[in-house]
Amino acid sequence: MIERRKTRPVYVGNVQVGGGAPVVVQSMTDTKTHDVEETLSQINRLYQVGCELIRVAVPREEDALALPEIVKNSPIPVIGDIHFSPRIAFLSLESGIHGIRLNPGNINDEGKIREILQECERKGVAVRLGVNSGSLEERLLQKYGYPSAEALAESALHWSEFFEKTGFTNFKVSIKGSDVLQNVEANRIFASKTDIPLHIGITEAGPSGKGTVKSSVGIGILLYLGIGDTVRVSLTAPPEEEVKTAYDILSSLGLRRRGVEIVSCPTCGRIEVNLPEVVRRVEESLKDIKLPIKVAIMGCVVNAIGEAKEADIGLACGYKSAVLFKEGKPIRRVSEEEMVEELLREIKTMEEDAK
Ligand code: SF4
Repeated sequence: MIERRKTRPVYVGNVQVGGGAPVVVQSMTDTKTHDVEETLSQINRLYQVGCELIRVAVPREEDALALPEIVKNSPIPVIGDIHFSPRIAFLSLESGIHGIRLNPGNINDEGKIREILQECERKGVAVRLGVNSGSLEERLLQKYGYPSAEALAESALHWSEFFEKTGFTNFKVSIKGSDVLQNVEANRIFASKTDIPLHIGITEAGPSGKGTVKSSVGIGILLYLGIGDTVRVSLTAPPEEEVKTAYDILSSLGLRRRGVEIVSCPTCGRIEVNLPEVVRRVEESLKDIKLPIKVAIMGCVVNAIGEAKEADIGLACGYKSAVLFKEGKPIRRVSEEEMVEELLREIKTMEEDAK
């Protein structure tokens, strides 16, 4: 069991981040925010796959002006991503938005930041204080020579203290670099000094294959250390993939469960059914299932009995057939032709029973 770091709670709309809440999964739309229809349609798709907080880019006035309609119709709290412009921040705060992400390093005006925080306090809006290796303050670059883990942590600690001195506490922090070890170390330093919740992720991780690996390693290490109250996997891929990957990471560490977890063997010379095809069909058929369920599909009896017993349901394959297991017990033998349908039929029953 992972012992999670004790953090104080922050509220983004009705979603609690930190303070013992489950790790919250979030993502970001890739639509033009002023295209309200497209943005809402993507938010709804993300909500269907389990996204709990959504961030939208607000680069221009037309995007800020679209926010009221988006906030009103979104099924999950909306966070505005603000860079450079205090004017856009104030305009966004008029929309009923639930949170904003601010990167003080690129606003660079303490007076304006203070005013934005006062407005957030008045409106009950949460803030994500973002520190990125690409926009570190000049004074820290001069002190450390480059955006090191220590420099990133120092920047985050400095701005957290600044926020708190203004009396504003409903904020979480993200410290992001695209280098995994630097990212882990910066978050670790910060986490050891405060109880402020952390939003974790590896920024600009890359396309789905390599980006998933990089994110899983970085986010996985932090979660294993008990660090992380909300997570975003950043991929150059449709955002639905980010959400699914986030759940896969969380479920592999026993922190959240959503949808199907397939345990299947790598196959070897003992195999006597077309296991890759069976796994492919089962995975495809169950991709939208919400019931947290562990399905074991094993090629032969070597590990099958043990794995099937650990899973909620499973197939232990043999010569052109399999034994169907449910809750650790064999329930019947099925032929290769019928095994996928039989397995799916049982899972459907489990879904009905869970309702
Ligand atoms: S479960 Fe059986 S078929 Fe699958 S890899 Fe192990 S020994 Fe091979």
